[in-house]
Amino acid sequence: MATYNRHHLLYESASWEVRPESRCLRRSSGLIVRMTQDSHSALHNAVTTVPVPNVYMVRSIAHSFVPSPDIFQAMDNLCFSIDESVNHPRATMLDRRLGQLMIDSVVTQRPFIREGMV
Ligand SMILES: [Zn+2]
Repeated sequence: MATYNRHHLLYESASWEVRPESRCLRRSSGLIVRMTQDSHSALHNAVTTVPVPNVYMVRSIAHSFVPSPDIFQAMDNLCFSIDESVNHPRATMLDRRLGQLMIDSVVTQRPFIREGMV
């Protein structure tokens, strides 16, 4: 019999749950999905972490993020918000690179979620 777990798109919890702003974004509607344990383990083996940006960037992402009950729409909306936050005139080169890493680590989860979501 298959076993199921809840997967948070933004992990690991030890990093994302430290500050209220990142905790709130991590727990947003649509950024949690129920998956088979096999696909969930494969996902975490492939994508070891989603980097946590500084608090200003988290606030900016959370401000523009549009939650969705559709996990794939929520992922697109999250990537759009990350992209928007790093296009701010005050964003540095490191912010932009970190934002790209965040987007890569979210997009790479997509096939595992498609395969394993229940
Ligand atoms: Zn997980």
